[in-house]
Amino acid sequence: MKTIAAFDRIGEENAFAVLARATDLAAQGKDIINLGIGQPDFQTPQHIVEAAIKALRDGHHGYTPAAGLLATREAVVRRTLTMTGVEVSPDSVMIMPGGKPTMFAAILMFGEPGAEILYPDPGFPIYRSMIEFTGATPVPVPVREEKGFAFSADEVLGLITPKTRLLILNSPANPTGGVTPRAEIEKLVRGLEAFPEVAILSDEIYDVMTYDGEEHTSLLRFPEIRDRLIILNGWSKTWAMTGWRMGWSIWPQQLYPLVRKLAVNCWSCVNAPSQFAGIAAIDGPQDDVGKMMRAFDNRRRIVTEGMNTLPGVTCATPKGAFYAFPNISQTGWKAKKLASALLEEAGVALIGGPDFGILGEGYIRVSYANSEENILRAIERMEKFLSETD
Ligand code: PLP
Repeated sequence: MKTIAAFDRIGEENAFAVLARATDLAAQGKDIINLGIGQPDFQTPQHIVEAAIKALRDGHHGYTPAAGLLATREAVVRRTLTMTGVEVSPDSVMIMPGGKPTMFAAILMFGEPGAEILYPDPGFPIYRSMIEFTGATPVPVPVREEKGFAFSADEVLGLITPKTRLLILNSPANPTGGVTPRAEIEKLVRGLEAFPEVAILSDEIYDVMTYDGEEHTSLLRFPEIRDRLIILNGWSKTWAMTGWRMGWSIWPQQLYPLVRKLAVNCWSCVNAPSQFAGIAAIDGPQDDVGKMMRAFDNRRRIVTEGMNTLPGVTCATPKGAFYAFPNISQTGWKAKKLASALLEEAGVALIGGPDFGILGEGYIRVSYANSEENILRAIERMEKFLSETD
């Protein structure tokens, strides 16, 4: 059997492989502390779970419209208004089975051999994987520590060529925790006016997760690019719902019928009870989100402080999401080797920076979706490991 070449090019998300290995080691009786996985270590708030159970009991067992239930799309409209001050139409909102399908849809719409797609490096690994799948040329946009892991408008604009079809942005960012300041985004939007053919995919899945008064700036705030802007967002991170597979996206008028057709062809719709849960998440009390964010904020300080005490390691204070991206270039280790040795020998799971791109060498990603106690234990183990292997 010979499958098409695109499947030789499709990549992986190594966080899942690390999780599998960590689970294996734990099953063998090893004490593993997992700072690898990008999912909140909190349960979905109970009122959201109850809404799904109620929907099932009330008989919501069938297909829904491919774009999602109107009530769920209207909830997204309300949430978008609260977060951005912008009122979008429910007929621009797609309910998707997670955040990833929006990425997939947007990249499929613009990726083909000869096309160039700009994406953040280091960044979420699926961007590059999907770009390569389509045969388009992936063009990394550097996200640098010296710039607080924000993208630079000048650098992005300098990489645009007549072949550029799509620009992918992500702030707050995975894996760095970087938040791009409003002034930089404004500058980018002004510059993009010279390139009206370039579509923009803004991955805002961590929008609520900023710290120290840092403000998330949604690209939706700029009407001048609305006719070519796709917003990716979802329930996975904010309401600790990674396993529910619930995301949403906001599309320009021209693209909306296309993504709706893709949904009809691929997944028909997101399951109905999850869509009811999604409404409860948006409209219900946000106390649990607040509690989670306070916990993340405390852990963020512990991680940053702890990483900075390790020999050869420096760690910038992350401004968003729930990741730190310590610089390990002075330890003498290559990042992936270090991540693997820490897992196998010290029982600490984290991800090597190169799993997020070429510029990830010299860094590791630490997810602080774990208890303060475990984070402190992990830091102790890393200290011991790095001192002994010095
Ligand atoms: N975008 C970013 C930047 C992410 O970090 C993730 C998940 O880790 C996603 C999208 C995908 O989210 P989902 O699990 O809802 O598909």
